[in-house]
Amino acid sequence: MLINYPVEDRTISQHFGVDNTNDPAKGDFYTVFGNKHPGVDFPVQEGTEVFASFPGIVVRNEYHKGMGNVIGIRNGNIVALYAHLSEATIKAGQIVKDRELIGLSGATGDACLSPHLHFELRDISKPSLKDMVFEPIFGKEILQYADTFIYSVNNKNTKKTLVNLSKLYYGTDSYWQKINESNGFAYEKDEILSDGLSVIIPNY
Ligand SMILES: [Zn+2]
Repeated sequence: MLINYPVEDRTISQHFGVDNTNDPAKGDFYTVFGNKHPGVDFPVQEGTEVFASFPGIVVRNEYHKGMGNVIGIRNGNIVALYAHLSEATIKAGQIVKDRELIGLSGATGDACLSPHLHFELRDISKPSLKDMVFEPIFGKEILQYADTFIYSVNNKNTKKTLVNLSKLYYGTDSYWQKINESNGFAYEKDEILSDGLSVIIPNY
């Protein structure tokens, strides 16, 4: 799967992996990433059009303390995050095409000190946030892309049901039956899945 630039201006103000340990204004937000910048920043002015880097399904469209208005788009095991937006023009659960307009950039969220787009890639088949993030290489294929991946049920923080998984991986509760069928399961939509169960997450 090819990854495109999310904005027209390709100028980058902060690259992936920059160490923010000595920047007290940013440090706290990156602790979970070993103080390394987990994405790429484009210093675009507020209101700049933001385009989908690859086609996918909108799994997140919400306000996050650090990232502000953030959109997450998934295709297979890869999620792209578009953060600090002023506005989203798509909804959770919506399927977007490659380079489709998804929102406008902004300066929302506590981790945003001046207007920019924070773009981040995660391989959600990995076990921890720190392992999930990886460097975007624009104009190239994502090497670790896989159109399906296996989720191992973990009920520690929230009890997992097929509806939970549907919201998490498709942004809407309407995919629970698709997950059921793809796995040959016969769970009820709100039945709690057992810890450690391997669930194939099919693409949208
Ligand atoms: Zn950033």
